[in-house]
Amino acid sequence: MAASTNVFTNNETNNWFKACLALNITKEGLANFLVSELQKVHVTVGSSCGNCCIETLIPCPTQPYCSKLKKSYCPFHKSQKPQQCFTCDKVKKNITSNHRYNNPSWRNTDAKKWASDYWEIGKCFLPPDGYSSVLSVQESDFNGVISILLNCTHFQNCLSPSCLSPPPPNKQCPLEMVFFKQEV
Ligand SMILES: [Zn+2]
Ligand SMILES: [Zn+2]
Repeated sequence: MAASTNVFTNNETNNWFKACLALNITKEGLANFLVSELQKVHVTVGSSCGNCCIETLIPCPTQPYCSKLKKSYCPFHKSQKPQQCFTCDKVKKNITSNHRYNNPSWRNTDAKKWASDYWEIGKCFLPPDGYSSVLSVQESDFNGVISILLNCTHFQNCLSPSCLSPPPPNKQCPLEMVFFKQEV
């Protein structure tokens, strides 16, 4: 079937192409704004020590990272045991308090780079999985950009109130509607 579809004359296929192009253009249009605002968030959350990885900063057990199946063995903490670090715990707490749902995506982020790379802070506001290898805002997809705008409360000071009215969590929130339509 696919081979017999002429992508340039089939209206439905053409519309999908247009939608993809529109999402990419929108993402590119938002990229510079996102970069400069994430740099501000980076300053706000403070500096980490640069030696702690995310496994050491998450106590065991913590759901959904640690397995409940075997009490003595945790695959998440198998190479790094939890260890208190006052400096990094403070940054972690600040990221959490900037997250609308207090639920940052720790699996995406490299905590050792928190001090040097604003994008590793930005990645905490992405969907829970699948973005750990994305190296920059530019490399991220539209879905990622929208979820940062939605999940990071810093952006409510940058956007027109109508973009967040009613404020999330509310399926009628325009930004959330865009996000959920994307996900389906
Ligand atoms: Zn540390
Ligand atoms: Zn664990």
